[in-house]
Amino acid sequence: MRLSHSLIPTLKETPAEAQIASHRLMLRAGLVRQTSAGIYAWLPIGYRVLRNIERIVREEQDAAGAQECLMPTIQPAELWRESGRYDDYGKEMLRIRDRHERELLYGPTNEEMITDLMRQSAKSYRELPQILYHIQWKFRDEVRPRFGVMRGREFLMKDAYSFDLDYAGAVVSYRKMMLAYMRTFQRLGLKAIPMAAESGPIGGNLSHEFIILAPTGESQVYYDSAFEEIDYLARGADGFRHDDASDLERFFTEMTTHYAATDEKHDKAAWEKVAPPRRREGRGIEVGHIFYFGTKYSAAMGFGVAGPDGKQVHPEMGSYGIGVSRLVGAVIEAGHDEAGIIWPDAIAPFRAAILNLKRGDAACDRICEALYAKLGAAALYDDREERAGVKFADADLMGHPWQIVVGPRGAASGRVELKRRATGERHEIAVDDVPARIA
Ligand code: ATP
Ligand code: MG
Repeated sequence: MRLSHSLIPTLKETPAEAQIASHRLMLRAGLVRQTSAGIYAWLPIGYRVLRNIERIVREEQDAAGAQECLMPTIQPAELWRESGRYDDYGKEMLRIRDRHERELLYGPTNEEMITDLMRQSAKSYRELPQILYHIQWKFRDEVRPRFGVMRGREFLMKDAYSFDLDYAGAVVSYRKMMLAYMRTFQRLGLKAIPMAAESGPIGGNLSHEFIILAPTGESQVYYDSAFEEIDYLARGADGFRHDDASDLERFFTEMTTHYAATDEKHDKAAWEKVAPPRRREGRGIEVGHIFYFGTKYSAAMGFGVAGPDGKQVHPEMGSYGIGVSRLVGAVIEAGHDEAGIIWPDAIAPFRAAILNLKRGDAACDRICEALYAKLGAAALYDDREERAGVKFADADLMGHPWQIVVGPRGAASGRVELKRRATGERHEIAVDDVPARIA
């Protein structure tokens, strides 16, 4: 993209309404604009980041064997009456009437709808297990939308739903999703910790929130430093595979033997057992939540399949959510400095910015155009009629992993300066070496 012809409205001043770094930086770097309270438009570079996160989430769901589908945002009230949640959900649910006075709602989640879709077609235990997911906008009329996209009213979620014949099967699905989550967060460059969460009326230990450490997080957390060291992406002897039940068990045991809890579940006695040098405390942001809830919806909505003995069985279910749009804010909370955002390579809107320090200088223009032609969609070309200082500041603010600085002195001898945003390191290199260096 050429910056001169892009909707990237960067701001010099700090917007007064933003209380935390990610919200400030998302507004200042021109990623989003609020259109109503808690509702945001994603501008071009913000949307690129959102799509990059979505892609990683999707790849890991697919790798775990979940099937992608897309359910609508608008749902009929009748489905929610079947489960009893239409009245229970309260004011967070946005209720709508169409021209025929039919009651609809903007979905805050999709358990009822996916149960209905499965109920219409799955008739036998032979069709189970299945995990379905979609990445779709949700609406929750939060009392206090705040912190930008972190607690919005309209937000993007990946929500998956598992259907198993029995409890043992549901446990395998649950562990598969937990592994997929740990791999997803690691690829996003985040240290997420699975913390035991309230498991509701069903009990058991099958409910975990995934928490990213950040000083501005809403939850107080306690954990064993072991979580900082596990490599969930590793394959081979110590890696974990989703297609092997004993591997999943080993993984789950490793996750649950180390202590990790939010304030609500903090157990002082268990905490004392963690070796003091490994005890960590801090604040965290919830970026995902998985839980097993048995036959709550399948029973309430009359969804049964014929079991091996011919008798009807209500499938055992679980739900698995990731806050895709919240993650954009969480990644920024985990990676920024005074000057702006520091994107992990995997989700940066552009791999590099090309800064033309002297537009109109023949050598600068020629080198920039050639680099831009070569790097294509991976580069944002700052071709504006602006002072060098403005270009440096905006590139730091937007947080591209690499900056290619093209000034008249170096350009005359075919050289440019390459800056790594995360470390601030700079090197002068030959133009021809740039693509390989940033690849
Ligand atoms: P919270 O306690 O933060 O309100 P929740 O328990 O209501 O979250 P879930 O219903 O488990 O959230 O939704 C799954 C994920 O969706 C959460 O882990 C979070 O990352 C994200 N999420 C939930 N509410 C919002 C929101 N208002 N804005 C942005 N993301 C959200
Ligand atoms: Mg909530």
